[in-house]
Amino acid sequence: MTIYSQHYSKRETPQTEQASPDQVRNSAGGYTFKVSPMEYARRFLILGSESPTYYVSAKKLTIDNSRGLEALWREQPEALANLIHEVSDKALAPKNDPALWALALGAASSNPIARKIALGLLPKVARTSTHLFHFLEMAQAHRGWGHGLKKAVARWYEKKSPDALAMQAIKYRQRDGWTHRDALRLSHPSIEGSEKRAAIYDFICRDTASKTLDRLTDTPIQGYLNVLEAAKADDVSGIVDAIEKYKLPWEAVPTDYLNKKPVLEVLAPHLGQTALIRNLGRYTEAGLLAPFSALEKDFIARLTDVELLKAGRIHPMQCLVARGAYSAKQDSNKRIAAALEDAFQLAFATVEPANKRTMLALDISGSMGSPFMRNNAMTCAEATGAMSMITMQTEPECITYGFSDSFIDLKLTVKDSLDSIMRKIRGKTFSGTDCALPMQKATAAKWQIDTFVVYTDNETWAGKIHPHQALEMYRQQSGIDAKLVVVGMVTTEFTIANPADKGMLDVVGFDATAPAMISKFSAGAI
Ligand code: CA
Repeated sequence: MTIYSQHYSKRETPQTEQASPDQVRNSAGGYTFKVSPMEYARRFLILGSESPTYYVSAKKLTIDNSRGLEALWREQPEALANLIHEVSDKALAPKNDPALWALALGAASSNPIARKIALGLLPKVARTSTHLFHFLEMAQAHRGWGHGLKKAVARWYEKKSPDALAMQAIKYRQRDGWTHRDALRLSHPSIEGSEKRAAIYDFICRDTASKTLDRLTDTPIQGYLNVLEAAKADDVSGIVDAIEKYKLPWEAVPTDYLNKKPVLEVLAPHLGQTALIRNLGRYTEAGLLAPFSALEKDFIARLTDVELLKAGRIHPMQCLVARGAYSAKQDSNKRIAAALEDAFQLAFATVEPANKRTMLALDISGSMGSPFMRNNAMTCAEATGAMSMITMQTEPECITYGFSDSFIDLKLTVKDSLDSIMRKIRGKTFSGTDCALPMQKATAAKWQIDTFVVYTDNETWAGKIHPHQALEMYRQQSGIDAKLVVVGMVTTEFTIANPADKGMLDVVGFDATAPAMISKFSAGAI
């Protein structure tokens, strides 16, 4: 080897040096590619920026993301609006807040077309009053109450049927310092054509509530008032009657009565999917979920009903987090915990096997030990393990390894339960990051791999060769036109995937469609 090629080779560049002019320095000091602005927006919409990453503060992440979104609103408002709508409506993200934030930025855009599109999308992304109040709080950080915003909020109310409105009025009374009364007074929605609607607004504003109550007798508002009255007299059976008659939701019942057995029993059939998942501990503590009891069987059936999960917009990670919290409780019911594990898998979009020889490689370097969502004990690496389980169970030919600055056999197999996967990963996150290792290992060991799937925060820096170069080398030595899917687990704009290479794809971690996209790309369908 000449001295020149020892010092400089386009095929082997240390990760701390640029291998191509379109690479940028990542937060860990390595050089990686940049994802497209739309892909960056997708990462934000799905992963959010509320928790700091190992390298970057939540504040800086939010500022970077918001600037990116503002630029997209100016330049590609339609495409961004479609993306926001898709992520929110199909519940591809664990939380709706990033979508609301993106919409609030659109509502304050310097591009009038963007403002119009964003405000037009409001009722579809802000589906509940809580969403609406979050949006108003966020929008106020960027803009005043102009004509456009007033009209959009008025339309939000006008589009809801009186019954739906009545339910919203008792379910979500205030959030973020906002009430329906505030929103109504600022937006002045039309009351034309419906006396009931006018009566509901009156009830909300309490101006003429007493005069209009007779028009609300067949709405849940009457039921809610009955509950309050019964609660004043400490009359549990009165509360139970009102819940039953008006099919009242959880939120209509004063907290003190939410641990009473008869109240919990009568609420059970009307629990929405989210309330069901959140309150399993409460039902268990009240002794209502004994193994093989009728309610236990009913809850298990509902938790594992794909249609209900879809209709309730349940994200797989919600189930995973709930399962962790539920299993940690004393006397938790093992069958319920197992149902939550099933729900976690069922909430992902349906995955067809690609039938390709697949290697899953989990980044377990130190940075992946940071929590994957705020207020959550689960690390990015553990959540990644849970996600990779879906592919492990779908692909007939699949091996799973871990890597940091060395290649590690985590001994994960298709037979592992979620618990054992977590156990095998827990506490193993340390040392530097070299995302080239999975491809280098396959090259050295002469393994036949069609698709590499690397789960990482893309903060690679430790290797002597860039990951895309390692893949190229693997292709040449094996004769297999192998693909690389990079599953980004953090909202940075970095990627190890070379955008010029059609055999590499970026996917966002925790996207409810991620396992399906990995499989489709692996199969050559996208
Ligand atoms: Ca790392």
